[in-house]
Amino acid sequence: MTLIQQIGPPETEEQILARLDASEVLLEARGLCVDYVTESGNIRACDDIDLVLRRGEILGVAGESASGKSTLLNALGRLQRMPAATSGGEILFHPGDGEEPVDLVALDEEGLAPYRWTRISIVMQSAMASLNPVIRLGEQFTDVIRTHDPRVTEREALQQAGELLSMVGIGEDRLTAFPFQLSGGMQQRALIALSLACDPDLVLMDEPTTAVDVVMQRQILDQVLAAQARLGFAVVFVTHDLSLLLEISDRIAIMYGGRVVEVGTAARLHDGAKHPYTQALRRAFPPLTEPIRRLSGIPGSPPDLQDLPTGCAFAPRCDAAMAICSQRRPELRDIEQGRSACYLTNGELSPAELAEQQRARDAARTAEEDPA
Ligand code: ATP
Ligand code: SF4
Ligand code: MG
Repeated sequence: MTLIQQIGPPETEEQILARLDASEVLLEARGLCVDYVTESGNIRACDDIDLVLRRGEILGVAGESASGKSTLLNALGRLQRMPAATSGGEILFHPGDGEEPVDLVALDEEGLAPYRWTRISIVMQSAMASLNPVIRLGEQFTDVIRTHDPRVTEREALQQAGELLSMVGIGEDRLTAFPFQLSGGMQQRALIALSLACDPDLVLMDEPTTAVDVVMQRQILDQVLAAQARLGFAVVFVTHDLSLLLEISDRIAIMYGGRVVEVGTAARLHDGAKHPYTQALRRAFPPLTEPIRRLSGIPGSPPDLQDLPTGCAFAPRCDAAMAICSQRRPELRDIEQGRSACYLTNGELSPAELAEQQRARDAARTAEEDPA
């Protein structure tokens, strides 16, 4: 039986907060905006993102292609390169032990160096793009470990590397292998092990299992969860696959058109997603551990970030859209067990206003269907 199957019923927000210790915030994004600077104008790929990550928490980030997930992940690790630029907001890193939080946005490369690998590391989708193909695996580990702590001897670093590799199911004998001598799944697991080399507080993972088959995906996820339970690092895990996130995350943020449109515990999103886009995503992916049910795609396409509709960006694809949805952008507001940016649930409209909007929408539809 895999770890994913053993996990048991998903926890409520209260249970998660009690387990993680609600006071232990690790990273906060506040009003974070990221733009791509292009000849045809700026593209805002992350717009006013507010997120809180607690120490040891697994936060999933889901959304269709082009929703801004990778842009957000790179921004959180301050890894984005031109033409991407952080154009507003803060990323507060809380070192713990009573130390004041540090705004990573305000730091230059030199200031960021102490955070890279030792505080925050990243696992990208393609291991071969991250691992150096012509340097033996062991040397890549010892380089990283000894650069960040020169007191560690070569031998100690190799021993540490061997332990990390065995944690992800790779034999120590592979320390002498070149990355190109490993299978795709092994390369990905080696990259995950390398991301843990300096015992980081946070590992950012961008679709780490998308390039491997389903059996390998489950193995890798199991190993990530086992390593996370043992070492206690927090994870931000980006994927388009909401079903996968429901199995492995504590909480999940849903992105659409460069914004976060819903945040909730995996338990609430599993049984009671509030935002119509989250509900559509739920129907679009096969569950990982439950019986297969009928799937339905999401009609239409994700919005062009350079030409976002006024109001709610999901309105052109939303069955529940009302007149106000195309006029004014709904705010991301607190709801029970999370946050939602939809007029149906975010409390921005009074019950009477909402009922009137829905009545007018239904009347207009009836008139359209039956013009006589
Ligand atoms: P996917 O699931 O396909 O990986 P994503 O949610 O990770 O998608 P991002 O890679 O963050 O999406 O990109 C979001 C948007 O940012 C893109 O649709 C595009 O408009 C813009 N974008 C991304 N990279 C660039 C770039 N190098 N230059 C210009 N615009 C970019
Ligand atoms: Fe649909 Fe309106 Fe909610 Fe947007 S705000 S998701 S268009 S109901
Ligand atoms: Mg991406």
